[in-house]
Amino acid sequence: MLTARAEINLNALQHNFLTLKALSPKSRLIAVIKGNAYGHDASLVAHTLQQADAFAVARIEEAVALRQAGIPQPIVLLEGCFCLEDLYLAAQHQFQPVIHHAGQLADILSATLPNPIKVWLKIDTGMHRIGVFPEQVAHYVTQLSHSPNVRDEVGFVSHFYQADELNQPTTLEQLARFINATAPFPGEKSLSNSAGVLYWSDAHFDWVRPGIALYGISPRADSTGIAEGLQPVMTLKSTLISVREHKAGESIGYGGHWIAKRDTRIGVIAMGYGDGYPRTAPAGTPVLVNGRKVPLVGRVSMDMMTVDLGPDSKDQVGDDVTLWGIGLPAEEVARHIGTIAYELVIKITGRVARHILKTG
Ligand SMILES: *Cc1c(COP(=O)(O)O)cnc(C)c1O
Repeated sequence: MLTARAEINLNALQHNFLTLKALSPKSRLIAVIKGNAYGHDASLVAHTLQQADAFAVARIEEAVALRQAGIPQPIVLLEGCFCLEDLYLAAQHQFQPVIHHAGQLADILSATLPNPIKVWLKIDTGMHRIGVFPEQVAHYVTQLSHSPNVRDEVGFVSHFYQADELNQPTTLEQLARFINATAPFPGEKSLSNSAGVLYWSDAHFDWVRPGIALYGISPRADSTGIAEGLQPVMTLKSTLISVREHKAGESIGYGGHWIAKRDTRIGVIAMGYGDGYPRTAPAGTPVLVNGRKVPLVGRVSMDMMTVDLGPDSKDQVGDDVTLWGIGLPAEEVARHIGTIAYELVIKITGRVARHILKTG
């Protein structure tokens, strides 16, 4: 009997893709599927999103795996190649690396690639993580555009750091810097992550790069995908494997910190930090059992977690449980745990079977 599983709703994925396309009608779309498509299965997501104009990943191994799975679209390497060998691999597979520092520029200028590749120049417009400074752009473009290893015009990318906060002036400052830095050059431009697509229509440019919104999750910690017209793609489920009588005053689980205030019934769920459910989830984190929210109690252990079903509950061994997804937004669970839904979905481990759901 299968207990811990992640149901992946491909209709919801299509719905979200079409919603994001409709929001950015003049742009082409790079579907960001790094981190195994945020835990949703990158090969499955890429095969489903056949109309995506391109894909993007963080590491070259992820891109190679997609080619091996038969994905033909362009694949952008968001942090580029980390060594010369990777650059040859990128040329062989027609990946499109981002270039964000002098070492990567030197590599592509010194290589003798079997065929030229398209590259993107990353500009730091305010995040201060990676990217060249705006005043360096001309130098990089000149060098790259004269290299026989580079085909087409050099594209431009930058990344928002606060676009999920709608009242911050920083996003407009980044946008202005991006426009100024790229204005003299003909190459294609890409700036918008999910928050950019959803909230900053002036920032869409030639290519948008949504990740989290494709999976039906809001980039805003204080919102939900559902509230923004998206549908959750992953529903994380498991099963009650025990229901026990529990006396007032008794503790439960490792450490014994949670103590029942009244006699109650405790449900034991086959789900733990070995499946990727966070061990840091505190008592009170909601879990959906037979359609009602019940609180997590006691510490999450490797293979199990416990919930307070209540003294009058009728739930039984074998009943279905939803940890997040349809009926319980991952964003809501994340708020209880003190993290963001991005981290929840991407950390689901290989022990959890991905089940394809396709309705209608
Ligand atoms: C991860 C990532 C994205 C997608 O961000 P979301 O917030 O998931 O939409 C876009 N661009 C870059 C450079 C990224 O690293």
